[in-house]
Amino acid sequence: LEEQLRQAQKMEAVGRLAGGIAHDFNNLLTAITGYADTLESNLKGEDALRKNAEEIRRAAERAAALTSQLLAFSRKQVLRPRVLDLRDVVARMEEMLRRLIGENIALCTAVDEGLWRVKADQGQIEQVIMNLVVNARDAMPQGGRLLIEARNVELDGSYVSRHMAVNPGSYVLLAVSDDGMGMSSETISHLFEPFYTTKEQGKGTGLGLATVYGIVTQSGGHIWVYSEPGEGTTFKIYLPRVEGEVEEVLPARQEAIPVEG
Ligand code: ADP
Repeated sequence: LEEQLRQAQKMEAVGRLAGGIAHDFNNLLTAITGYADTLESNLKGEDALRKNAEEIRRAAERAAALTSQLLAFSRKQVLRPRVLDLRDVVARMEEMLRRLIGENIALCTAVDEGLWRVKADQGQIEQVIMNLVVNARDAMPQGGRLLIEARNVELDGSYVSRHMAVNPGSYVLLAVSDDGMGMSSETISHLFEPFYTTKEQGKGTGLGLATVYGIVTQSGGHIWVYSEPGEGTTFKIYLPRVEGEVEEVLPARQEAIPVEG
């Protein structure tokens, strides 16, 4: 519990710091992306210059992805928690995820029908899935298998005693597994800390899992990781079941939430 508290305080500090910067930064990046894009289309026939413009746009897009991760920490992001069916959310992301992981990795999904509903911000849940999938991809540079599962589970007393403090009850389990390189116990012990990364410079921010942790706990959920070096990794996320609000289910959004503020 002490550790959880420390984690929460760190997240709060990083969130406040990051949010302010990220918000202004994002506006600047929009300008860079926009102008680079215009430049690119005005440079038809000038292949070398066009390539430069394209590189600028790409870099700005990567930077924008990074700031949106930072924004996920911060209060400036407008959250719209609502009743969600994770089956819809996963289905709508599948094509994008396949593109993200490339052809050497097989994406399998096993999502039960009749999943209980959960209450969360859809953009945030998409962020959670994205971050876990990107990590799984990076753990399998030689290719492999990535599995996304979702099913209903009851966590009872026995489960609770084997793990940390959990409210027994009904949850939707969302699991992301890979058969990649796995993690040492040293890595596992730092996993959810902001800025902890083992990836080479420029590749990792160390914010992916800290963001995931923040979103899951904010949504009243729990997260566990199972990993062995060379044996692959499974992240399990438990989101509490929502009851009595089923009629509120809205169709899954297709576009990202614009950042306001
Ligand atoms: P980043 O991906 O930017 O490094 P994360 O917070 O997402 O930041 O992950 C932190 C670290 O956890 C990674 O650098 C990596 O060492 C480890 N990690 C996360 N997911 C996996 C995975 N599926 N397999 C192996 N290692 C992982």
